[in-house]
Amino acid sequence: MNTRLPRVLTTGLLALMAGLFVTTFLLNRSQYTASISSAEASHSTLLKQQAKNLRDNIARQEEQQFAFYGTSQALDAELFLVLDDRVVPACTAGLLEYVSEQTADEAFQQGIARLPNHEALPFFEMAAKRPILTPGDLYQTLGAYFNMLELDSNIQTVCCILALLDRSDIPLPKSQIVFFNNLLQEQAENLEQIKARTGNLWETAYTIDQKLVRRKGVYRATIDEKTLSVAEGGLALLYTPNINPTPPLQLTNAIPDALHEEIIPGFIAFIPTSAIEDAKRTIHKQYRTGNGILVLMFLLGSGLVGGMIISARRQRELDAMKTEFIATVSHELRTPLSLIRLHAETLHHGRIPNDKIDDYHQTILTEAERLSGIVNNVLDFSRMERNTLQIHPEPTELSALCENIADSFQGRLHQDGFELEKKINPDIGAMVDPLAFSQIVFNLLDNALKYSDGEKSIRIELEQSNDQIILRVADQGIGIPDKLKKHIFDDFVRSDDPKVTARRGSGIGLSVARQLAEKMNGNIEVMNNEPHGSIFTVNLKENDEATGG
Ligand code: ADP
Repeated sequence: MNTRLPRVLTTGLLALMAGLFVTTFLLNRSQYTASISSAEASHSTLLKQQAKNLRDNIARQEEQQFAFYGTSQALDAELFLVLDDRVVPACTAGLLEYVSEQTADEAFQQGIARLPNHEALPFFEMAAKRPILTPGDLYQTLGAYFNMLELDSNIQTVCCILALLDRSDIPLPKSQIVFFNNLLQEQAENLEQIKARTGNLWETAYTIDQKLVRRKGVYRATIDEKTLSVAEGGLALLYTPNINPTPPLQLTNAIPDALHEEIIPGFIAFIPTSAIEDAKRTIHKQYRTGNGILVLMFLLGSGLVGGMIISARRQRELDAMKTEFIATVSHELRTPLSLIRLHAETLHHGRIPNDKIDDYHQTILTEAERLSGIVNNVLDFSRMERNTLQIHPEPTELSALCENIADSFQGRLHQDGFELEKKINPDIGAMVDPLAFSQIVFNLLDNALKYSDGEKSIRIELEQSNDQIILRVADQGIGIPDKLKKHIFDDFVRSDDPKVTARRGSGIGLSVARQLAEKMNGNIEVMNNEPHGSIFTVNLKENDEATGG
């Protein structure tokens, strides 16, 4: 049989499976990586999208608020200028150039004393906390504190001017001092008129400020959820923005340790790491389940292919064993056949002395028995293989049967110089198949003879204890290694000891003996003999109904 083909096939199958496994695993892996990065990307896209929505929303709110400012005199909405990131009332900005450090300090004290509960306060405080390094810093700080007075901007300006004019060390140009004095006098006469004129004052301040080129454009800051927004041109707005991010987006004012976007200064939107981790965990779980199924499928597939390989190998081994078996049996048959033929021919031609004729007959008989023993074994074994081995129990005189078989061995024993010790108790009978029993005894005696070495002594015993019949065949031969003892009753098993392989044998004698014993509800076992050799023991029940099938 061609054994290359299945080997090539199974190796190919295994390689194909391994290839499929690796490819699917890699695909699963890349799918996993893609899913993880797409989860991250989708979170980042979501964040960007939502951040844009929120910014647009704030811008819309600002537009409305500015529109509102255009039609209202609300105190919260004032005119500011943004100077180096500081927010100061536009009307005072131009004047600050001329305020001394001391004046600023006094104005600061006044401002504190009259501090109102004004919503814009935190921004003015912020402006006021600017580090004071130059007189300019002081003036700007002063401006911020004037705004804390919760006064109409024009009145603030007047107060500011009064504070300035109070000081003798103020380096105001003369023309301005005159202008301010006039302004104050008008104020004393008619407050309404002063208020109208202060608008001009702002214009003046604004013009000065333009020259200073310190305007910044749009300014936004958030403190305690209130946002100050200063548009280009100095239009300022204080309001609480209405921002409601949709989950998983959340808002904070400190930079978080997660994916985030600044909506406006002070408002930072972020997606909590837990939301991303959750998504990743789900993907990871799916990935692991996928891999688990893959490994399971691979194991199952490998098991199948492995099973195929093992069964193919077993088949090959069996084929080889059968071939060897046929060769061995043929060889075993040839030896007794040749002897029988040779001796029969010699007798036929009458070429031997009279005193040798009996020996010739004996050899023919012995070899014929050996021949029938071998043939019976082969037949029984073949029936065992086909499950058609049957026994036919009948009342049998076991003692006599044992004696007969032992006698039939005498020729061989004598020939090979063996001593046979018999301890066959008389009159033991049982319901057994006499042919099957004979075959067992024959096989055990045959082996005892075959595997004896040096000391040529064999003992056969038959005894009855209660309803138990015990047959023992003991030799002083080569013995059986312990690890082989439980295998020698299996088909074709022979020791690889050269002392065994040097002797003829097909490895079916003991397996036939065991099957026959078991068919008669008995068993067969082996143990070491002392000082060496083996003892085979067959246990049978006296009155047991032996199975016939
Ligand atoms: P065979 O004798 O044809 O090889 P058996 O089935 O009768 O087959 O025996 C199986 C194997 O058990 C033998 O090959 C041998 O290794 C071992 N064996 C059987 N009987 C004996 C014995 N009396 N002494 C030592 N080895 C034995």
